[in-house]
Amino acid sequence: DVAIAAPLPVVGRDVLVPLVTGGEVEYAALDYGASAPCLQRVWDDVAGYLPYYGSVHRGAGYLSQLSTDLYEQSRATVAEFLGLRGDDTLLFTRGTTDSLNLLASVLPRGTRVFVFETEHHAALLPWRRHAGVTQLAAPSSPAQAVAALEAALEGSGDGPRLVCVTGASNVTGELFPVAELAEVAHRFGARIVLDAAQLAPHHPVSVADLDVDWIALSAHKLYAPFGSGVLAGRGDWLDAAEPYLAGGGASKAVSRDHVEWQSGAARHEAGSPNVIGAYALASACRAITEAGPAALVAREEALLARLRARLAEIPQVRTLELFGPESARVGVLSFVVEGWNSSRFAAVLSAEYGIGVRDGLFCAHPLVRHLLGGRADQPTECGSPDAPEGQQNLNAIRVSFGLGTPVEHLDRFAAAVR
Ligand code: PMP
Repeated sequence: DVAIAAPLPVVGRDVLVPLVTGGEVEYAALDYGASAPCLQRVWDDVAGYLPYYGSVHRGAGYLSQLSTDLYEQSRATVAEFLGLRGDDTLLFTRGTTDSLNLLASVLPRGTRVFVFETEHHAALLPWRRHAGVTQLAAPSSPAQAVAALEAALEGSGDGPRLVCVTGASNVTGELFPVAELAEVAHRFGARIVLDAAQLAPHHPVSVADLDVDWIALSAHKLYAPFGSGVLAGRGDWLDAAEPYLAGGGASKAVSRDHVEWQSGAARHEAGSPNVIGAYALASACRAITEAGPAALVAREEALLARLRARLAEIPQVRTLELFGPESARVGVLSFVVEGWNSSRFAAVLSAEYGIGVRDGLFCAHPLVRHLLGGRADQPTECGSPDAPEGQQNLNAIRVSFGLGTPVEHLDRFAAAVR
């Protein structure tokens, strides 16, 4: 029971929810892995800017210029937060799914993509539309993941190849050995993209230090609202490909039969950009930097240790993990409860305790099925509260938290599970 620092202020902490058992209670948001609450600081910054926004890169008026400056400053802030190299391109997107689909759309002809089947569907599926895909079985340890990639890349030729890897699993919270995987990819002449949707909200990330070629993430998991995200990294494949979207902003000169496209970020940011989303994301990056990422990581590790110790005392709880209990992880944890249907369990946590968690397969069907002992090639049926007996663990429960989570919420959760 070490002392745990206060959470950072987030909006929505004062939401009261009615309980079926009578009365009401402060909502305990423990589904940060899906979407984290907005930092108060982000709320304040966005509220201060809303009266003044204008269309970026277009108008001659004062507010258009102000917005263009803020948009480009936001790009620089996020680039610094992610430790980008000087010649990297940072694109604002709609989120991680959009970012990875964008990258898939610019792959050179004949690219082969290597991906662990433990990925979130956003990192698993976009490649199938544009490239040949080699799926690697769920690894049993970080070292085995590195060895499996090495074996797969060995003799894979010298055509364009891309490795896609998650930084932290959205199901188990476990960290993947990104720097080691990047080293292997580059040794074999392949490139690598990091899905940092779950990593960046919990850990400082440096694209340059990890030596990954691209990074993708979503603002709504990084304490800013929905609708913006990032794809950042090497510009060559981005500049060589057709724009992701055709339209204004991406085009430099247009005649009846010909279009000359922009290069750099503009090439793939057609349409009026989401300047408020970019500004909100940059505000979150500034707030995290000022709070000190190391202190936030230490606080989260203390919360996680406390939660895991409490859950370990409950024999019916089985935590899902790929690499074993000693592996490094973020504040994301999935489990099943013996004798319980997971969806019913989550519904009871909500209705009787005011706790919001997630249940299901977390958009990572092959991984969850693997962890529940099912075969990865079987069709998936999501359990429901009314699933017949014997099907209770076709899905799982996920609890996830972060820098706005007070200790009391996790204690209430552990007591409710007990
Ligand atoms: N990758 C991972 C690891 C995720 O957890 C998620 C969101 N659950 C995504 C990608 C997709 O992010 P988004 O829904 O914001 O596009």
